[in-house]
Amino acid sequence: MNALEIKDLQASVGDDQEILKGLSLTLPKGEVHALMGPNGSGKSTLAKVLAGHEEYAVTGGEVLMDGSPILGMEPDEISRAGLFLAFQYPLEIPGVSIANFIRAALQSRLGEGERLDASRYYKDLYAKMDEIGIDRKFTSRALNEGFSGGEKKRCEILQMSMLQPTYSILDETDSGLDIDALRIVAEGVNAMRGEERGMLVITHYQRLLEYIVPDKVHVVWDGRIVHSGGKELALELEKKGYDWVKEELVALIG
Ligand code: ADP
Ligand code: MG
Repeated sequence: MNALEIKDLQASVGDDQEILKGLSLTLPKGEVHALMGPNGSGKSTLAKVLAGHEEYAVTGGEVLMDGSPILGMEPDEISRAGLFLAFQYPLEIPGVSIANFIRAALQSRLGEGERLDASRYYKDLYAKMDEIGIDRKFTSRALNEGFSGGEKKRCEILQMSMLQPTYSILDETDSGLDIDALRIVAEGVNAMRGEERGMLVITHYQRLLEYIVPDKVHVVWDGRIVHSGGKELALELEKKGYDWVKEELVALIG
């Protein structure tokens, strides 16, 4: 199937602290889905488990990317297979410039003996930086070091647009952005929408979804998807709050 399929995923951290408790979600290629839910419900954990974070132990379920299982693969293998994660809290990497970081990631996708064309690479990088509103002087700055929250988020979008992944997970890319930056980031994401790509936009607030209109919205609660619907679900959540979902849930499962 042409989709990112998450089936009954269970994952824990530390001494058997269960965080994902049977989470299922299918993101078909060509669609943009939003994942919403209260703080601590497991959104970032899901993103990190999909990217192969070693801190989390998968205790059940499976994840298929276009039919191939990805759980158990190393993060770099998952990335080269076509999955991209924009972090909620991007790490600062002193000593590694943005230009060299993205270049190495692209180079690692080429076959043995193939070299990245440097002049074409820089041309592409500068064009994307202009689009996303990142000053060219950032090219030689160390990745995220001393960046503001908004600069870090733009840098994540830059990486995504350079790597052209098949599936993207954007973890609270809107946090720390003012309205102008939010618009620019949303434009960057919208420019990447298309038949050949699926995107999962994780957000706490409805605001981002005014700019990135999702095909579907999922609500996560305590490690499970408890509700899915169309884009209007985001508005409903904004109005009624997450307690509404909780009440519905309690009514359902007691
Ligand atoms: P969200 O992104 O929805 O706010 P998280 O996935 O970050 O939620 O966290 C879900 C729950 O798992 C929280 O209770 C959080 O404290 C816990 N958790 C996540 N990662 C870790 C970790 N590395 N160590 C301990 N607890 C964690
Ligand atoms: Mg989070």
